[in-house]
Amino acid sequence: MATSLSIIIPIYNEAENILPLTNAIEKNCPVDYELIFINDGSKDDSLPTIIQLANTNKNIKCISLSRNFGHQHALMAGLEHATGNNIIIMDGDGQHPPELIPSLLDLLNQGYDLVHTERKKTAHSGFLKKISSALFYRFINLISDTKIVANQADFKAFNQKVLKAVLSFKERELFLRGLFSWIGFRTTSYAFDAPARWHGKSKYSYTKMLQLALKGTTSFSFKPLRMALLIGSLVSLAAFAFGIYALIAYFNGNTVPGWASIIIAVMFLGGTQLLAIGLLGEYIASLFTESKQRPIYLIDQKINID
Ligand code: UDP
Ligand code: MG
Repeated sequence: MATSLSIIIPIYNEAENILPLTNAIEKNCPVDYELIFINDGSKDDSLPTIIQLANTNKNIKCISLSRNFGHQHALMAGLEHATGNNIIIMDGDGQHPPELIPSLLDLLNQGYDLVHTERKKTAHSGFLKKISSALFYRFINLISDTKIVANQADFKAFNQKVLKAVLSFKERELFLRGLFSWIGFRTTSYAFDAPARWHGKSKYSYTKMLQLALKGTTSFSFKPLRMALLIGSLVSLAAFAFGIYALIAYFNGNTVPGWASIIIAVMFLGGTQLLAIGLLGEYIASLFTESKQRPIYLIDQKINID
């Protein structure tokens, strides 16, 4: 008989959080479950800690990746190994409270295929992180055709139908929050207050957040390219009009040395061009990554998984 629930938890240097998390899940999970930890190249004692737990409990499983591939890819590795009728993905740092598992499962039992969660508040979250995240969701929803739920957490519950849909995506540049918003199905969202992480520091630096935001943008919309095209057209139009004005001025003999207008035009044109080229570069880089067809993760070892 299939397990009722697969719980998938990506782990990158969370050694101190693993045992409390495992205990909290054991206490709160109302059905039989398998717990799949994905060790994403941790450099601390995360892997030995998981192995120790897995040795005494066959329902605790581990996929250890050959190096750090990133949160999104680690999640995908977990999804590809989930066997439960329902699946929950959650973080390994206590910010996604295991106490909520029964409520999420209830919603699935009511007939929803996919339950997103939405952070109302995040304890101890920095001002800059809050602002940048709010701005990102504003921006992405402005340009994307898919409505992406703001303040979404990678804490979700869903059934096999949704799992199959997500696994059918072949893309290498993963922005799972976008994919989960894109696929449709009967969906609802559950709001919660995210506590501070139990131990350790956030693994999402501003650089990583920016990378994820860029990935989210380029993989869900071509509108930035269209905007570049539009701005380019407007600027060309203005330049053309200015050219006519300059010619008239030349024939009328009032060609005064116009340093300011020249420098402004050159800088403005240069800036817009560089911006547009950079943007194009982002999309070409995505194409490049996709076309190489590299695996999105490599497994070093599996524990309690055939
Ligand atoms: N994580 C991962 N690989 C990474 C970065 C993070 O598997 O390269 C895991 C991490 O261990 C945690 C989850 O992804 O379980 C979310 O990371 P974190 O809590 O640092 O992000 P934040 O909550 O600060 O956005
Ligand atoms: Mg966290």
